[in-house]
Amino acid sequence: MTQDALNFSGQVAIITGAGGGLGRLYALDLAKRGVSVVVNDLGGSLDGSGSSATAAEAVVEEIKASGGKAIANAADVTDEAAVNAMVAQTLDVFGRIDILINNAGILRDKSFAKMEMVNWNKVVDVHLNGAAVCTRAVWNIMKEQGNGRIIMTTSPSGLYGNFGQANYGAAKAGLWGMMNTLGLEGAKSNIHVNCIAPSAGTRMTEELMDAGTLKLLAPENITPAVVFLCSDAAPNRKVLVAAAGTYSLAEMVETKGLHLPESERTPEGIAAHWGQISDRAEAEPIANVMEGVAKLVKAMTSA
Ligand code: NAD
Repeated sequence: MTQDALNFSGQVAIITGAGGGLGRLYALDLAKRGVSVVVNDLGGSLDGSGSSATAAEAVVEEIKASGGKAIANAADVTDEAAVNAMVAQTLDVFGRIDILINNAGILRDKSFAKMEMVNWNKVVDVHLNGAAVCTRAVWNIMKEQGNGRIIMTTSPSGLYGNFGQANYGAAKAGLWGMMNTLGLEGAKSNIHVNCIAPSAGTRMTEELMDAGTLKLLAPENITPAVVFLCSDAAPNRKVLVAAAGTYSLAEMVETKGLHLPESERTPEGIAAHWGQISDRAEAEPIANVMEGVAKLVKAMTSA
């Protein structure tokens, strides 16, 4: 890999939810590297209520003050017409779209027993449907260009679960699922789709963690991981976990499994062999559904 893979000059990025927190840092860093940035932010509160154009405009002013190129956009990522208008505006002003960072997000935490569907729907709408709306709006443009980098923002909550975040976790796991398929569909057009799973001190986490932990989780540590995923050096269909200066890969694996004779294909048979079925010794990732089918066929023929 050459340094050129990390050369972004002339590229154009749309970053959703970039009026503050992590998105603002991505915008500042990419702009410094010569990327023209669309700073999108609805400018609402943490639970998604309200709106204001000033958050995005302030980041654009910061970028311009250091000699970068940026425009502000206040589209709600769930509003398809507004997102399509943002994409049209991007093409109008900057002429192309190389990078989309789906970063906008809200929180409405409650234990599932107390979670009204309105809080479920709103969180799934912003994170999962919002990312689908924005990705669809740039997808064919990237296909025609023959290049694109799309980042989905998942979360340890979506990968591993977190008390009080069934809505958020479901949406974040959905983004990982969307990445798995879009990365396949985009590969031949050099569109790479990856996930970032950050942990960082922002307004989203300031109420959830103590001051010492928040200090360790400086949001600046996430930016290099996201910028890497925006680059020519980016892998495809990977989940990069980033927190406090540690970077790791999260992957779904499947155990080798056990092919049972017909007589044992019963709940009792599965219970009796649970140790072997769940044995992780030879667990490995499955690249796609067809590889999963091939694994099953192999298990049957070698049983
Ligand atoms: P943040 O609240 O500072 O940033 C989220 C931004 O999204 C806000 O500026 C908000 O105005 C904007 N936004 C919300 N709804 C929008 C909508 N409908 N349309 C456009 N913009 C909208 O929080 P953050 O921590 O910087 O979060 C950024 C992303 O990272 C989110 O997707 C979040 O879920 C994810 N994440 C954060 C952490 C963490 O530890 N901070 C952990 C895992 C995942």
